[in-house]
Amino acid sequence: MNPSITLSNAMSALDGHLPATDVLSPRAALQSLSAITRGLMAYQPDTLWNTETARLPAPLQRLRHRARAFAQQELAPRALQLDALPHWPVGQPPEALKDMLACAGRAGWLTDMLPAPFGSASWREYRHPLVLRSCIKVEEFSRVCGGQMLLLCAHTLGLAPILLTGNPNDLRRFVLPAFRALQRGEPHLFAFAITEPGAGSDVEEGHGAAQLRPGVVARRADGGWHLNGRKCFISGGDMARSLTVFAALEGEGMASWTCFLVRSDMPGFRATRTELKMGMRASGAAELEFDNVFVPDSHVLGGLRKGWALNRQTLNLSRLPVAAMGVGFAQAATDIALDYACRTTLGGRALVHDQAVQLCLAQMLAETSTIRALVWQGARTWAPRQSTASMAKFHCTDVAMRVVTLAMDLLGSHALDHSQRLEKVYRDCRLTQIFEGTNQINRLALIEDQQEEVLARIPPA
Ligand SMILES: Cc1cc2nc3c(=O)[nH]c(=O)nc-3n(C[C@H](O)[C@H](O)[C@H](O)COP(=O)(O)OP(=O)(O)OC[C@H]3O[C@@H](n4cnc5c(N)ncnc54)[C@H](O)[C@@H]3O)c2cc1C
Repeated sequence: MNPSITLSNAMSALDGHLPATDVLSPRAALQSLSAITRGLMAYQPDTLWNTETARLPAPLQRLRHRARAFAQQELAPRALQLDALPHWPVGQPPEALKDMLACAGRAGWLTDMLPAPFGSASWREYRHPLVLRSCIKVEEFSRVCGGQMLLLCAHTLGLAPILLTGNPNDLRRFVLPAFRALQRGEPHLFAFAITEPGAGSDVEEGHGAAQLRPGVVARRADGGWHLNGRKCFISGGDMARSLTVFAALEGEGMASWTCFLVRSDMPGFRATRTELKMGMRASGAAELEFDNVFVPDSHVLGGLRKGWALNRQTLNLSRLPVAAMGVGFAQAATDIALDYACRTTLGGRALVHDQAVQLCLAQMLAETSTIRALVWQGARTWAPRQSTASMAKFHCTDVAMRVVTLAMDLLGSHALDHSQRLEKVYRDCRLTQIFEGTNQINRLALIEDQQEEVLARIPPA
């Protein structure tokens, strides 16, 4: 709900309810009880958004307010326009997108993984886990525009393997100069490249990886490696200047996977095309070509053959924010449905007076709050484990899709109107069930992480 809405103790009421001032309403009735009882209960009029924000520590409350304000001021005005533009060629992003990135960089949204003076997070904020801060931001951005959100967040994903190595030298050489550029408004974006034309799920779960013949291969050269092959569906890969690219060493399998820091200006590297996809259209999903790209030894991140481990840890960090995307889309759908039910009249009265509509709205509010609680609970740690991250990812995005579908039902044919924003929310939300591991793969990741416990329950033969 919109926190700017001011709630009053109105005399009026929705059909089937008493006014808040009626002697039988819980809020008015509470006034007749002692000050102690009144202090123990919370019946002050407030929006759910404010109530939930107030449960966060103060620095995260401020972060949530800032993220909402940025989303409203910078993402919302561009959202429908960017979604409806014709598919733009690689290297020719629209001005509106470049402006948004410059604003986001200057506002610190692309450098907030590190504290000041290295990045833009305040030290008070930085005391709270990175993944929780990401989830708060991602929800607010998704609520307004899935495409712009993905472009901003794919950058965090691309940086994650470097941050995870914890190597101060890599931070100094690769991250800090990019951060300085971003804070000046220059778009030095990062991207994360694991998916290959022959390998989506297989690079996200060990059983498939064990059978996989890697498509991008690194051949030893003097002082470095030559990379050959193709990656696909790389978010922001068409705009990124630095990419964390995972490749197998020549003649070896996936256990040799190594993470290389590739610059977009290295000879032989090319973003060949972007997919014309159903949702999140402001973010390009790029196919990348590596034609004998020379990558020096100094650009190997975390050491040779450490790529698989880095990949899995990156996914444990990134799946909770994808769950938060689901929360943002569910919230967007709920807000749109609530507004519609209040503004639309049927038989001479607002739709929201109909109790069947109220039941539907209550379901949407509850489902959205529940998945937010799951995300916040899972993200309240610096080291989210696989089962928590994967469970949140598949459950929250599946529930979000149900909430968006309820909103579609409520709006009827208006749901299909681009200007109502709901059909875009539907298209954007559907993608979250597919990327960062399909929801099937995330279900299996939950079981994989619980394997010992499951096996222990099987009685001995
Ligand atoms: C918008 C978007 C952005 C993306 N961004 C990035 C990015 O930035 N970087 C990147 O590297 N990748 C990215 N991807 C790739 C994404 O992570 C993969 O699409 C995803 O992992 C699914 O792979 P796939 O499409 O090849 O499906 P497949 O692996 O071909 O799966 C097809 C079907 O088989 C099922 N399946 C596969 N294996 C199993 C199994 N063992 N058991 C049960 N079912 C199984 C899947 O669940 C699915 O239903 C992105 C994708 C999209 C759509």
